[in-house]
Amino acid sequence: MVVATQSVNHGDEAYKIALEQYNRAAKYLVDLDDGLIEYLRYPRREFTVNFPVRRDDGRIEMYTGYRVHHNTAMGPSKGGLRFSTAVTLDEVRALAMWMTWKCALVNIPYGGAKGGVVVDPKTLSPTELERLTRRYAAELFPLMSPQMDVPAPDMGTNPQVMAWIMDTYSMTVGYSVPAIVTGKPIAIGGSEGRTEATGRGVVVCMVATLKHFGYNDPNSVRVVVQGFGNVGSHAAQYAHELGFKVTAVSDVEGGIYNPNGLDIPDVLRYVREKGRLRDYPNVDRVTNAELLQLPCDVLLPCAMENQIHVGNASHIQARFVIEGANGPTTPEADDILNDKGVYIVPDILANSGGVIVSYFEWVQDLQAFFWGKEAVFENLERILSAAYQATQHTAEKLKIDMRTAAQVSAIRRVADAIAIRGIYP
Ligand code: GLU
Repeated sequence: MVVATQSVNHGDEAYKIALEQYNRAAKYLVDLDDGLIEYLRYPRREFTVNFPVRRDDGRIEMYTGYRVHHNTAMGPSKGGLRFSTAVTLDEVRALAMWMTWKCALVNIPYGGAKGGVVVDPKTLSPTELERLTRRYAAELFPLMSPQMDVPAPDMGTNPQVMAWIMDTYSMTVGYSVPAIVTGKPIAIGGSEGRTEATGRGVVVCMVATLKHFGYNDPNSVRVVVQGFGNVGSHAAQYAHELGFKVTAVSDVEGGIYNPNGLDIPDVLRYVREKGRLRDYPNVDRVTNAELLQLPCDVLLPCAMENQIHVGNASHIQARFVIEGANGPTTPEADDILNDKGVYIVPDILANSGGVIVSYFEWVQDLQAFFWGKEAVFENLERILSAAYQATQHTAEKLKIDMRTAAQVSAIRRVADAIAIRGIYP
């Protein structure tokens, strides 16, 4: 097997990639005011906080966190919080910009934001993680509210972290404010279906793509999934449920492969018990780099940025790449894959199921009226399918790839909103 690896600085690269994608889309928006095009290159606000956390042994340690609001023309800014040692201001800027395009593309009334703390959450005890989360939430207080900015989970955070943020905010104002975050546990105002939403949306996009290209037998479609966190594990599970053959999955330590298809419910049970894929029995082992290059029909990169790059793109064997992660493909890799005829469904469309159901959660919280899972999934599919069709239509009309088409539609929507509102003062 050919393995090409290339080390990249994910965060700083990510922002360059976000701007490069923007520039590529801007070429198809020549009718827009140049000043507006320039405006949308900038994040509206960037907040950096340095704060202390007391460790369980009494030591005080300093941590750095960020929250970037890229744009708020369409409504409150929306986007996840990441706890990872790879977090940089540039990475958060890129992710915030992608959130603006994602929300605009699927036409939900939000701007884009992202936040993060430079920390490996696995090195903290549960009580230390709670103190870090609460202090970070307190530091963000001036720039979050249900009308201003609404965080959600991302890499390294989860519903429990959201619960601590909701509680910290609520204790400060003196009453419960469930709409301050989404991705909360259902017991405190979370939505049915939010946990599964991103992975499910990835598979909805995969099914739409396969249908478009005339693949009608799920059992003959081999699917490879990179990443087995919230997005990858739910994508693998839903794909398996629909009868697709999931042949490989991976976590940070590496992947497992069975060309005849993995028993995904069993893999999920194993991971729930052991916390990792390593040592899962009776399968071939592959590295994450090898996994991306396995023979398959569909590749679902659901891990993180910069996984498909100039060093490995020409070795990708999949015919379809559906991006569960944010920014998994570099623009150079896009060119290589497009030339090879690989069809890419871009992140801002393919992984938008998460923020779509976050929107439902926020609406339910504001109305204090909750929906059943069926209504959540039905509305998710309706919004996502409409965005998918519209993007495909734009791609065909302008004769461009799906990523550029998605960006063009999203940027136009935000630019139009700004133009209608006017430039203040
Ligand atoms: N972190 C997720 C994303 O990248 C979800 C954001 C949200 O629900 O606000 O789309």
